[in-house]
Amino acid sequence: MPDTTPAEDGTEAAQSGDAKRILVAEDSSAIQDLLQLILTQRGLSVDIVEDGKQALDAIRTQGYDIALLDFNMPEMTGLEVVAKYLEDPAKGPCPHFVAITGDVQGLLESQDNCEHFDRVMAKPLDINEVLSVIGELGRARPEAPGIRPVRPAAGGAPSRSPIEDVGYRFLRWPYDADRRRLTAGAEGYDAVLVYEADTPDDLAPLWQGRGLNLLPVIDLTGRLGAGADFDASGVGGDVAEHVTRLIDGFGDRRAALHRDVARSEDIGDKLLARIHVSGADLIPRLDGNRKGLVGYNLTLAPETVRAAAGKLVGRGLLAADFFERLHVCGNCRSARMIVREECPSCRSAQIEETSYLHHFRCAYQGPEADFRTGDDLICPKCRVELRHFGRDYDRPGTMLVCQSCGHAAAEPAVGFVCADCGTRSEGEAVATRDVHLYRLTRDGIGYLEAGAAFLGMAQQVLRFTDLPLDLVVALNGEARRYNETGAAFTLLSIAYRNERPIAQDHGARQFAATRRLFTELLGQRLDGGAKVISGGAFDYALLPGTGPEAVSGRIGDLGKRIAAELRFDPGAEISVFGPEDLG
Ligand SMILES: [Zn+2]
Ligand SMILES: [Zn+2]
Ligand SMILES: [Zn+2]
Repeated sequence: MPDTTPAEDGTEAAQSGDAKRILVAEDSSAIQDLLQLILTQRGLSVDIVEDGKQALDAIRTQGYDIALLDFNMPEMTGLEVVAKYLEDPAKGPCPHFVAITGDVQGLLESQDNCEHFDRVMAKPLDINEVLSVIGELGRARPEAPGIRPVRPAAGGAPSRSPIEDVGYRFLRWPYDADRRRLTAGAEGYDAVLVYEADTPDDLAPLWQGRGLNLLPVIDLTGRLGAGADFDASGVGGDVAEHVTRLIDGFGDRRAALHRDVARSEDIGDKLLARIHVSGADLIPRLDGNRKGLVGYNLTLAPETVRAAAGKLVGRGLLAADFFERLHVCGNCRSARMIVREECPSCRSAQIEETSYLHHFRCAYQGPEADFRTGDDLICPKCRVELRHFGRDYDRPGTMLVCQSCGHAAAEPAVGFVCADCGTRSEGEAVATRDVHLYRLTRDGIGYLEAGAAFLGMAQQVLRFTDLPLDLVVALNGEARRYNETGAAFTLLSIAYRNERPIAQDHGARQFAATRRLFTELLGQRLDGGAKVISGGAFDYALLPGTGPEAVSGRIGDLGKRIAAELRFDPGAEISVFGPEDLG
């Protein structure tokens, strides 16, 4: 039984002033990953964009409590973004603006900068400073909105759906969607039962909670379309059998996920797992209610889906099938573009097709309207009357005549008008966006079932989202020291090739013990005090004060010597990273 009534829950959630919405505009993917990780782990809602134009558009359309803007972004600087936003008479409420810059001194020298930004933060970022600035600015405006979809039920308790009697544990959206439950995750729930929502995106907070994105979504509103796994709005009579099959199917496939993936906080892993557990491909649908014109069959914003799925295709875990090519507004990124035939001269769309006449005697060709004088046809060039079709003249074809400027042309030009912002563009100048259907590859399925070990291990690229939080904090400290004093450091990531064979033959506990022993010994034998941190798929060792070139040469042998002392060889593969690998 739920421990509070729906009405009380909603009130509590609406009043909690700390669920802030934050925009991060930053073109370095390492900093993007870092901020995404740090902020979402603290229950903040974070959107990431890569350049100034996207930032301005996001602030205008989404509304944020705090916007962190890299001062030197492509397309538009942080200052230009703020200035443009402030000069718009139709602007919404103003977020707190925070500038991120490598040149604090230079930025503060300009009077404009001081007026526009609430705070300036220096690169490389200090995580503790980021958190304290956000905490401080967040408190400064307690009336700012929290996580939007969480709201009190109108008129108190909802009518109770008979689906709740089927015998499963339901997270009732939005009544149970308070921050405490969302953070606690899927433990204790079998499905999400949606009583109120306008669009599938309203349920995006499910992706912040551990495993909630892997529950089936049952829609009682009829508004979620393919975003839900089952539309129960129009279903009368006995739905018990269908709901049971849906929930059990999800449960079975969820249980088959490897723990690396099931526990991962990485959005790519979450998306991959969702596709597997739902038993359906990631299918795009044209949706005129969306600025991007496309929705997918889950409760995550399509932009997020596209970015994450694109990376998974790059890693060979998803395959993409072409679905549609859209044209995208260069100003606001909307795909709701009106395509039209235009006058090549003045770009008016008011062009008419007309047949044109060819006067044999003088060889003049022109629109029929130019010849017509009352009931007669008079050649506008030589003023002779045209009497006989085939002898005096013929109609070789049609042409287009602009009703605005009179220009005549054989072919129209193609132009686009953005239905959202009104920007006009010529056909060749408009960017396109290809939309794909995504499906799991064999590697993708192997990874979901066998974890990182399936992918042949060694970590080639460091991504902050893959790293345990205390390691990220330690690394950030080392990076600052490196930038200030030049003191190098080395990070080792350790993967285990033999996890599967050891776990299969001797049990998962035996493997865990082997792994623990290995990292312990490694930490002891690396001189200068290595900090060993165990992660999900990988373990890590951080060596302050030692550069990677001093470690790379001997680390392979050291790993082998340690393995030889153990009862089982974990098959450790050690990758070496230095300050320059952290971007
Ligand atoms: Zn536009
Ligand atoms: Zn003529
Ligand atoms: Zn014209």
